[in-house]
Amino acid sequence: MFAQRKWCTRVLKFALSPFVAVTLLDSMSALADLGWEAYPNEGWEEISVMDERNTPMRTYQVCNVMEANQNNWLRTRHISREGAQRVYIEIKFTLRDCNSLPGVPGTCKETFNMYYYESNNANVWFIKESQYVKIDTIAADESFTQVDVGDRVMKLNTEVRDISNLSKKGFYLAFQDLGACIALVSVRVFYKKCPLTVLNLAQFPDTITGGDTALVEVHGMCVNSSEEFEAPKMYCSADGGWLVPIGRCVCKPGFEENKDASFSPPPFFQKKFFSNCLVLLKVYFPLPSGPPSAPENPISTVNETCVTLEWSPPRDTGGRGDVTYSLHCRKCSGDGKKCTPCGGSIHFVPRQFGLSSANVLITDLQPDSNYSFTIESQSGVSDLSPTPRGSVVINVTTSQTVSVVLKERRSKDSVTLAWHGPERPNGAIVEYEVIYYEKNQRDQNYTVLKTRSNMMTVDGLKPGTTYVFRVRARTDGGYGSYGGEIELETSHEDILAIGDPNQSTILVVSIAGGIVLLIFLVTCFVVSGRHCGYIKAKQDPDEEKMQFQHGRVKLPGSRTYIHPHTYEDPNQAVRDFAKEIDASNIRIERVIGAGEFGEVCSGRLRVQGKREIYVAIKSLKAGYSDKQRRDFLSEASIMGQFDHPNIIRLEGVVTKCKPVMIITEFMENGSLDTFLKKHDGQFTVIQLVGMLRGIASGMKYLSDMSYVHRDLAARNILVNSNLVCKVSDFGLSRVLEDDPEAAYTTRGGKIPIRWTAPEAIAYRKFTSASDVWSYGIVMWEVVSYGERPYWEMSNQDVIKAIDEGYRLPAPMDCPVVLHQLMLDCWEKGRSDRPKFGQIVTILDKLIRNPASLRELANSSVGEDPPTPEFSVSTVDDWLETIKMGQYKENFSSAGYVSLDSILYISVSELTKMGVTLAGHQKKILSSVQSLQTQGTHVHV
Ligand code: AMP
Repeated sequence: MFAQRKWCTRVLKFALSPFVAVTLLDSMSALADLGWEAYPNEGWEEISVMDERNTPMRTYQVCNVMEANQNNWLRTRHISREGAQRVYIEIKFTLRDCNSLPGVPGTCKETFNMYYYESNNANVWFIKESQYVKIDTIAADESFTQVDVGDRVMKLNTEVRDISNLSKKGFYLAFQDLGACIALVSVRVFYKKCPLTVLNLAQFPDTITGGDTALVEVHGMCVNSSEEFEAPKMYCSADGGWLVPIGRCVCKPGFEENKDASFSPPPFFQKKFFSNCLVLLKVYFPLPSGPPSAPENPISTVNETCVTLEWSPPRDTGGRGDVTYSLHCRKCSGDGKKCTPCGGSIHFVPRQFGLSSANVLITDLQPDSNYSFTIESQSGVSDLSPTPRGSVVINVTTSQTVSVVLKERRSKDSVTLAWHGPERPNGAIVEYEVIYYEKNQRDQNYTVLKTRSNMMTVDGLKPGTTYVFRVRARTDGGYGSYGGEIELETSHEDILAIGDPNQSTILVVSIAGGIVLLIFLVTCFVVSGRHCGYIKAKQDPDEEKMQFQHGRVKLPGSRTYIHPHTYEDPNQAVRDFAKEIDASNIRIERVIGAGEFGEVCSGRLRVQGKREIYVAIKSLKAGYSDKQRRDFLSEASIMGQFDHPNIIRLEGVVTKCKPVMIITEFMENGSLDTFLKKHDGQFTVIQLVGMLRGIASGMKYLSDMSYVHRDLAARNILVNSNLVCKVSDFGLSRVLEDDPEAAYTTRGGKIPIRWTAPEAIAYRKFTSASDVWSYGIVMWEVVSYGERPYWEMSNQDVIKAIDEGYRLPAPMDCPVVLHQLMLDCWEKGRSDRPKFGQIVTILDKLIRNPASLRELANSSVGEDPPTPEFSVSTVDDWLETIKMGQYKENFSSAGYVSLDSILYISVSELTKMGVTLAGHQKKILSSVQSLQTQGTHVHV
């Protein structure tokens, strides 16, 4: 039932496209008696009333409020489902407020129940109560309007529910009254279809939406005179909208698209997706057309062992709009005379054949090698043409490593080194990059220096410390690979090491030429090592210095995360960053979850001099290996380095006795995804933005510390009792082994595809910018209350769709600004995505100005009518305005005396103060939300 309910709301949340509704029953269109069964006799009554246009309407009414023990049933006739697995029931009704009926006893009700019974038999004469399946209890939003038929004033409630997974020929609906005063004005039963659509030259038939599975995969048929290029398919979503087109057809030889045809894309697709692939069912004219000419102006940009190729489209497309490109790679000898096919060790991103855009990234080339790439253009008629395909060849040399010939001068805080440039550079040398780091700390902290000269003095180093240096050249063709590692230890004291063979190191790292050139360096230049960021070094105007930690430029004053792997003894990392807790101070109370290494329990920790605190206790199950123990404790050594209100706090570890445990603060509401699903639709938009702000703030802290999370997802966020969200899950093995969402990629390695940025999937480029992409997905999860990103699509389809420009549509009730922020996080170019700091600023602004959240990205079927704007200044006025004046007393005695105090009220608080009717709660909360978004209209 939960899944059904979830879909009941979710379905509506994505009702974005113009679905087709097929009516199965409409009581309003009945000309004669509806002929529904009512029992007992003195219960529901069929009554004809006139609507405002004086047209007779058939309604069913019951109002036995004066007598207790009511149980009145009304059953429709058999409703055939016509093949639909999910049907929607829209009911319009009025309901009287018990308080408005003088002298009624306490048994008076303000709700009724709706049921269904599936059957192949259209003539069932009796259905037992116990055979019915309950759909929902229905409460009214506008219950308390006096129904005055005489004046034609009739305020109707409209509610929509759905039933899914229907399998028999049809069903009966039933309404159970337990003592309310109801007029059932109309009942409409319908199902939804995704309408016949033609897209990318493929026709997708009218498709009935699925049952409980979210999406129906539909294969398209190529329209007349076209043929499959890549099998076309789309998904028909549960709300009758088409999602995620993949593949396409192309015109057969001799035919061309009719460019005059127009088609307006469904609103859920991003514009850019459609900009050049928009087609509709077209009229095809046999046209003389030929294969395209060759692509033009190819250029290459080398980055170590990767190369990006870009080119211009053929000058002559042969009169066709379906030009694609394919690449062929050959590896050539030094003199370029002998070339052989590259084989399968290199990779093309997004693909090698059938590229629609004029660029490609090629990875995994060998350094210092020559390659020849042939870029071929083709179209639907290429195979039929006797002329060879148009192609252009581009030769690329992956840059050589730099030969470093070093007679270094070392002092206690500086090292000078010199090198010899590559013998056969693949272009004019623009500059050299020197990267250095403390031995074994490459992952945390490294510095990149740039210079146009062939030597450099690096200073600001620690005395008696071993550093690793590497140099690479940048030519106008791109970056070369780094030369070999040179390890140098700074002296303990300031001793010059010139010319002393025992103290100086003569290193020859020459991969290309092996020419040794000794360069004596006498001058010791001073470079300020304390500077951070991108600064000019003092000794050489051409030299620039950038300090990185974990791949990022270090911000002045920020602390840097230290990777536990940099410790030779991982236990030392645990000792450095986690406090040892005496096991006798811990009281385990109950199991709350299962972790990768064992159970997660809640319990209490007695901290000396403080009161007991609630904690979560993760323990390492018995029989673990050394590696498992190390990996388990690595989470503590990482977490222990962080100190931020939106990062889960480490209390300490137990390592001196068994079981080994990690103790963290306790987060009462558990993981965010489960929490949201449990409280579907219950938060105000400001509360959701507040949660998102917290997560962004935690992530800003992590990115400032140069920590890249790699697995940011709602399941890895924990929520406490105050709705504060904290980032968690920091173990070293977590993405690889722990996350059930992680899937193996073609390049090996496990990645949670739906949450991961394309560059991280394609070539493992994990950065804070890829964390920002994941953050966008978390935003979507939060606003859709824990919906699964990309629903039931396969990982492969997700990758494909993202590559083709598809982005998740706005969830229902999602403010435009939030969806825009999600889209910004999902920019293809990672430098185009916002930084976490900017995200925090944007969310702060939204929270300060709730009116900006008012414009919703979409509106949906069955939505409540918008609450009218109003201007109120007291809680009492407000309650009166929304016709909830009867709760004035409850609000004031619960301490809600000013309007701002009610802005964050929750369902549970309403229940606590005695507002227990679901319809009233809903009405109050939707008005609170409207107050929040009105901002300036409220006089607080
Ligand atoms: P983990 O191994 O960190 O993924 O934890 C497994 C599950 O235990 C989570 O999904 C949570 O439901 C629960 N859990 C972990 N840590 C905490 C905590 N600090 N407070 C409350 N629940 C937690």
